Amino acid sequence: MAAALEQIAASSGWKIYNKSLRVYEGTTLAMVRGEEERNLLAVGDGSLFDDLDGTVIADGAAKLAPLTHANRKVLNHYFPYTVPRALGTEVATIGLGDRLGIAGSGHLQAVEGKQILPVLAQQSIRELNLTGRSYEEVLDAACYAVFQEGFEDGFGADGDHLKVEADIELALRLGFTMLTLDCSEHIDNDVANMDEGQLQRAYAAIPSATRERYEQRYGGKSFAVGESAIQFEVATLQSYVCIYGKAIDFMERIYKQYIVSAGRDIDFEISIDETLTPTDPAAHFMVAQELKDRGVDIYSMAPRFCGEFQKGIDYIGDLTQFEQELKVHAAIVDHFGYKLSIHSGSDKFSVFPVIGKHTSGRFHVKTAGTNWLEAVRTVAQVNPSLYRRMHAYALEHVEEALAYYHVSMRLEEIAPLDQTVDAQLPAYMDEDNARQLIHITYGLLLQAKDEQGKPLFKTKFYQTLYEQEEAYAESLRRHIGRHLELLGK
Ligand SMILES: [Zn+2]
Repeated sequence: MAAALEQIAASSGWKIYNKSLRVYEGTTLAMVRGEEERNLLAVGDGSLFDDLDGTVIADGAAKLAPLTHANRKVLNHYFPYTVPRALGTEVATIGLGDRLGIAGSGHLQAVEGKQILPVLAQQSIRELNLTGRSYEEVLDAACYAVFQEGFEDGFGADGDHLKVEADIELALRLGFTMLTLDCSEHIDNDVANMDEGQLQRAYAAIPSATRERYEQRYGGKSFAVGESAIQFEVATLQSYVCIYGKAIDFMERIYKQYIVSAGRDIDFEISIDETLTPTDPAAHFMVAQELKDRGVDIYSMAPRFCGEFQKGIDYIGDLTQFEQELKVHAAIVDHFGYKLSIHSGSDKFSVFPVIGKHTSGRFHVKTAGTNWLEAVRTVAQVNPSLYRRMHAYALEHVEEALAYYHVSMRLEEIAPLDQTVDAQLPAYMDEDNARQLIHITYGLLLQAKDEQGKPLFKTKFYQTLYEQEEAYAESLRRHIGRHLELLGK
């Protein structure tokens, strides 16, 4: 059977992705690569063969099926390992958001055989808007990558940084297995700047029954967590209640309304990282204890750490202080039995070793745009003129992107394009300022159109990466591999 498939593929000039090859009853199925696109190739007969939607070829002996949403559902039905699943708290996980939808196989090659599982589909609504993709497309791309690589260890799908109920409902309905609840709109950031009188008034505005409950539970108390004690002074407790009270109610409501009623396991992550100031360990503890008391079971929590976690570059801040605070956060997480989640986690090479160490290897690290930078690096290597046009466009339009992202890049430090020879172009992706420039302009670059409304870069960009598939996968294996190694995986 496999021989028949090989023969048909060879006669049509298609390359078989060997790891994808599977037999189900009378059908042999594989992912094949043609000059312009990938397809599923089925040989034989039976229900799998019949269910795939495609063109019958080779006098009825085979079927060529495009990578559509419908065919993805067929794969999910016959090969359960292609369906995302909740990954739980007992294993380390890495979020590998793939804005382009073509990084999946390189990502899987990077995690293959390691003590860590991938969350392949991971996008926020903002990312979908900036790339013009839908949640279905994001899931389709992940499932097809899993089939292509024959990856049977399991993977997750994260509706990332969701805050609107309609989006939560949509992601869960489509089969997402992880939900990252963005609580930023329910966290009161103004409290940090209040004086004593203002804080008193804000606290007094909270219903008395709520205040009394918090005071009885935490006021003046000390809780043992690992080797440390978490203390609640009256004044700090009041400020925590003002900052996080509404957010905790929001977490509870979403959990009860959507997570419990989903009827399947969901990795429920709480994100309180989008705040102006670092999360106090005691505040982290209070949020966790409240969730536990209210019966809310979580998979992970993302506090805001000290220092800066900017996109696409290493950690900026005091490493000693980071390690001290991380220890306490990790102890809290252990105490309650969920995982510590690190957002904007790509390229934070200087802090990975301590994250791996103090979490005892049980963490969730999110990366999102670093594979885009590797894609750009690949383009810089193999298609210098395309890279040059993209770089120039990014510089021209960077102001628009700065509305979305906080970065500290200094454009004047980026080497002038006209003084850089082709062979040096990939090195832009080794320089922090250029990395951030390209990182934050991904949406603009992918959406850019000429006067006729045709994509300025997108088509050529995808085409180049398709032709250079192995070079792109290789750079992801190297780059993500470096993350995993430093994290102790
Ligand atoms: Zn976040």
